[in-house]
Amino acid sequence: MKVSRTSIVYGPIISWRLGRSLGIDLILPPKTCTFDCIYCQLGRTVNKVSSPRDFKPKVYLDDLVRELKAVLEGMDIRFLDHVTFSGCGEPTLHPGLGEMIEAVKDLCPSVPVAILTNSSLFWLGEVVEAVRNADVIVAKLDAALPDIFSLVNRPAEGVELDMVIDGLKEVRKTAKGRLAIQSMFLKAHGKPINTDETSLSRLVEVLRSTRPDQVQVNTPTRPPAEPYVEALSPEELKAIADYLSCQLRDIEVISWHSPRLGPVRKRAGELRKALIAILERRPCRFHELCLSTGEEPIMVRAELDRLISEGLLVVRDYKGQRFYVLKGGEAGIKCV
Ligand code: SF4
Repeated sequence: MKVSRTSIVYGPIISWRLGRSLGIDLILPPKTCTFDCIYCQLGRTVNKVSSPRDFKPKVYLDDLVRELKAVLEGMDIRFLDHVTFSGCGEPTLHPGLGEMIEAVKDLCPSVPVAILTNSSLFWLGEVVEAVRNADVIVAKLDAALPDIFSLVNRPAEGVELDMVIDGLKEVRKTAKGRLAIQSMFLKAHGKPINTDETSLSRLVEVLRSTRPDQVQVNTPTRPPAEPYVEALSPEELKAIADYLSCQLRDIEVISWHSPRLGPVRKRAGELRKALIAILERRPCRFHELCLSTGEEPIMVRAELDRLISEGLLVVRDYKGQRFYVLKGGEAGIKCV
């Protein structure tokens, strides 16, 4: 059977930050981003670009509206917590992002619209304007020192840390919704790389000047782009969250925890398509796929086995957990 890999709308997936989140991918495979983060769950960046000028959009407003309408007809939106712009790269690369956000708000006005971004393009006024009406902006800031920023995020040429920090301040001024800054803390070759006192105190300085509503403390929990990347232990992560909470008394600090969500009762489209659409964007564990699709585990297991036997899916062990990873090949998503 031929597999379509071009759906714009995927999920809902279960997100620790956003609950049951219906995904919108304006980038589509292959992965296109201004960063090539060493922990990226999508593998290495296939197309590393510096600005929207280098990006040729494949998603148009009509396509999004048509697809989203069809998906929403097949589900009960009361079970959705967010509609989230994310996917196979950096969503702010798309020049139509602002109007796409408006279109989604029109189609499902009762569901908050979120965007996950790496913050690299907020130096552009049009990008700041595009995200202005999002209900939630989750913006990445993994390091506030230039050498660690380069090591962790491996930005495209011309993307500098100062531009990221100044851009975040601009977004803070204009965003109508909540601004959360997410920092990923990790080890490389067995050693922590962005958790020493100097790194954390500089991060605190930047967070104080940026004034997000929330800081999200995270560590990689899925197979990373580079094999030498390791997650922090829950205790190490908690120690960082505690440190930041003390330093940032007026800002809410939350850290990663297992989702405590029940199943999504309705799902969009047939199971096979739904599974592929989710796995195109992130490697997942079995229980996550059951929660996301709302399908009986036995059915999910059978469909996953079919995809494996057809050579479309592989199982990878990572830190004692089994992840289902879609094979890359021509779509450009790499197995890691
Ligand atoms: S983690 Fe996000 S910002 Fe980093 S390379 Fe992957 S898609 Fe890009």
